[in-house]
Amino acid sequence: MASAEIIQFPQPATPIMFRQQIELPPEVDIAELQLLNRLFQHLDVQTLLEQFLIEMCAWLPLCGVRYTIADTGESFLAGRATRRASSAALRQAGETLGQIELFAFGDIAATTATVLAPLGAPLRNALNHHRVKLLARRDTLSGLGNRTALEQAVATEVARAHRFSLPFTMLVVDIDNFKRINDSLGHSAGDDVIRGVSTELAGCLRPYDQAFRYGGEEFVVLLGQTGIAKGMQIAERIRRRIAARCKPEADPARRITVSIGGAEFVHAETADNLFDRADRALYRAKDEGRNRSVAAAS
Ligand code: GH3
Ligand code: MG
Ligand code: MG
Repeated sequence: MASAEIIQFPQPATPIMFRQQIELPPEVDIAELQLLNRLFQHLDVQTLLEQFLIEMCAWLPLCGVRYTIADTGESFLAGRATRRASSAALRQAGETLGQIELFAFGDIAATTATVLAPLGAPLRNALNHHRVKLLARRDTLSGLGNRTALEQAVATEVARAHRFSLPFTMLVVDIDNFKRINDSLGHSAGDDVIRGVSTELAGCLRPYDQAFRYGGEEFVVLLGQTGIAKGMQIAERIRRRIAARCKPEADPARRITVSIGGAEFVHAETADNLFDRADRALYRAKDEGRNRSVAAAS
């Protein structure tokens, strides 16, 4: 039996003494520093807003705070959006962070600028973190979600389907004879076709559907709260729209088509199993002549 080794760190011969007195400038408010320190611990925008609200509720009759990112319009709400007390555009270090709205159940004595002052720098960090996270999940060529985003989204859909007994359908979409496009028109024309197909694909979807580039010329669409019958109607809509609208710029006479396999999530199966069934249906669509959609047997 291997003996467990115990590593003993040597004790310093003489205790280290901190003699130095640190003089803080008179304008530094310790409570404010402590608040900033607590806020800086949160890099997630939603959690930061929640922490900010908790901190501010000790002083002010606030019941909610909403932050809307300037360039994307994405919005985060902590607490409740009831009676709006004030609203302000936030700028930090020359950068526009977005709009902050404060909701209150009484009058706020302090100015909005005073209330929001501690939030600026931590929010800028959280916003940068949020942007990096989004970039890490986006496919740069198509602008759709990438495979990492797909894996997370499928896991969420599976959990939701289990919890609420709701259906969802997965479509696997593959461009037909794409290699020929690359071979005859060149790789960059092929890239343009991938972009065009992605745009049309995204244009067919409802707000609660999601599209991802799985890799190469293959895409996955997740149709939330959708059974296979409705899912295949959407698949046909996607297929027809791409066939009608996608044309390579270098050869507009050429038709771009896709084949689609669809499968509805079955409760005992894994995400991989669901993908395999949709993928096998896709291969049937290819075998049957391409430019068609086929539903998997459950
Ligand atoms: P099928 O109808 O059976 O799907 O035939 P296909 O030619 O579309 O399928 P195949 O898998 O034989 O070829 C896919 C091609 O996609 C091969 C690969 O070079 C090309 N490809 C993969 N990723 C990219 C990309 O990012 N850009 C471009 N332009 N081509 C890519
Ligand atoms: Mg293909
Ligand atoms: Mg393929």
